[in-house]
Amino acid sequence: MAETDQYTIDQFYRFISEGRLMAVKCNSCGKQTLPPRQICPECHSENLEWIQIGTEGRILTYTIIYIPPKGFEDMAPYAYGIIELEGNIRLPGIIRDVDLDDLKVGMKVEVCFDRETSDKWPNWPRYYFRPVES
Ligand SMILES: [Zn+2]
Repeated sequence: MAETDQYTIDQFYRFISEGRLMAVKCNSCGKQTLPPRQICPECHSENLEWIQIGTEGRILTYTIIYIPPKGFEDMAPYAYGIIELEGNIRLPGIIRDVDLDDLKVGMKVEVCFDRETSDKWPNWPRYYFRPVES
């Protein structure tokens, strides 16, 4: 089995490290899923494939984190939101490069790829969201 045939969060992060935002698409019903699953949550088909998806979306909901988990202390306060991307995909993540007072539901953001490897972060490269200039 090729690595790309595995619909796992590890594989999702491997794509992220290559600067690609990928979701799992079901070839039976067309549903796109993130986080990845081995079976379509809609129709239980195993006929799946990875597809590259657009990096722009809108903030569906967010919270400001004042008391961060261990390792994220330097960043607080920061915004953590759920972003709706094309294909009805909802992806959670940190929203950066924004004045927290300016954040609003519905704001346009894009996925950025963070290739920094600091020991604060887990070993895999990360993504984050930032506002799109309109
Ligand atoms: Zn399906």
